[in-house]
Amino acid sequence: MDSEHMGDDLAKVLLTEEQIQARLSELAEQIWHDYEGKDLLLVGVLKGAVVVMADLMRALPGTAPMDWMAVSSYGSGTKSSGVVRILKDLDADITGKDVLIVEDIIDSGLTLSWIRANLESRKPASVEICTLLRKPDVVKVDIPVKYVGFDIPNEFVVGYGLDYAERYRNLRCVGTLAPHVYA
Ligand code: 5GP
Ligand code: MG
Ligand code: MG
Repeated sequence: MDSEHMGDDLAKVLLTEEQIQARLSELAEQIWHDYEGKDLLLVGVLKGAVVVMADLMRALPGTAPMDWMAVSSYGSGTKSSGVVRILKDLDADITGKDVLIVEDIIDSGLTLSWIRANLESRKPASVEICTLLRKPDVVKVDIPVKYVGFDIPNEFVVGYGLDYAERYRNLRCVGTLAPHVYA
């Protein structure tokens, strides 16, 4: 779905499809270079990372396997608490693998910090994080993020895998919603 299919639901486009693809190509080149000679495994977190995973993996100039996790984060309202439950675990053992977590967005970073610690306890060779979007609040937790697509302001965004009430994930760009959508 393109922005012209959004009617008046879209308030503003933050990142166009072209900007996102161009940045993902750069990240993919860098990742491929950094992981040369390593046993790279891409790990996506459902469902938001579906679109970024699909495009990032195809931008890699070589092949790498992927695996998926689904978690639910208990929180009051819209903010995550960092208390996490695994809904779907990885299919395979990651012992000795060089794990790269692929994420759509890091806001507080609490969920990801839990996932990272959980994966690290399984004795992989390394765990790093790649996120398309990062919000300013993440500085409150000490979580090193090796690959960042874009730093964005503290606004609620949708598109490119990101939802509002499970909708708008299929929008090709990233944008903010008009106030009437929330009403
Ligand atoms: P954190 O634990 O970093 O606060 O939560 C990250 C998760 O919250 C993301 O994976 C995503 O599901 C959701 N999230 C955070 N910010 C946004 C946003 O601006 N838009 C959408 N759609 N989801 C967000
Ligand atoms: Mg996510
Ligand atoms: Mg969501």
